[in-house]
Amino acid sequence: MMSIFLVDSLWSLNVPNLGRQNEYQLILPRIHSLRTRKKRAAISIARLKARYHSPTLNNKSDPLDELVFILLSQMTNSVSYERVYDRVKSVIPDWNQLLKLPLSTIENLILDAGLFRHRATRLKQIAVRLNQDFGTVSLDSLFDYDDERAQSYLMSLPGIGMKSAKCILMYSLGRQVLPVDTHSARVAYRLGLVASYEHSLVDKELSVIVPPELRFDYHVNAIAHGRAICRARRPRCERCVLLSLCQFGRKFKQ
Ligand code: SF4
Repeated sequence: MMSIFLVDSLWSLNVPNLGRQNEYQLILPRIHSLRTRKKRAAISIARLKARYHSPTLNNKSDPLDELVFILLSQMTNSVSYERVYDRVKSVIPDWNQLLKLPLSTIENLILDAGLFRHRATRLKQIAVRLNQDFGTVSLDSLFDYDDERAQSYLMSLPGIGMKSAKCILMYSLGRQVLPVDTHSARVAYRLGLVASYEHSLVDKELSVIVPPELRFDYHVNAIAHGRAICRARRPRCERCVLLSLCQFGRKFKQ
């Protein structure tokens, strides 16, 4: 049985579903002051950027392209959804075509993406809604919205939650927001930058700790790191560029 770091009680209360966490997740790093966490975050982001070079992760510059890409990616593997997206885009180069295409045609196009009926219905619903709101199936009007208004609009669309909305804001609208996914939350938590795995809390805390100009670099490099090294199970701490900053890693190696 692995030992558990002593943590302040408030922090430990913030750990969700502790009974279902695996033994690696039971090694809780000590929380530091806000000033220290900001410093550690900046150093960590610089190291991650030097290691992974801020990969683009195949995201799209057009906001509606990115939304479709995200809808196809939810709950499926990357090879599958990237292939399906390329097929959809080659058949439907103008998203206004979604208004006239029969649902069955859209379903057939995304058959191998999984949940194809559900995804096709959402694509159709979103096309109808954008056409009602903007007179065209496009999200270009959001370039004129401020961050809060654009995020709120995106989250009002079916199938678009906070993470997806922030990805569209960051990748396609060039906003300095910080989407939190499972990898970026895990890395932040293990480094002791945030006090919880709970994504809504990580979202709030990281937005304070990571300055706007470093948010893109944190997001894309933490995803790369979470996939390659800081995996949920059996993290490769001995190969990690963050090991000297990471209590979890040092404890895990013992
Ligand atoms: S040292 Fe281990 S736990 Fe810490 S960030 Fe690196 S891989 Fe993750």
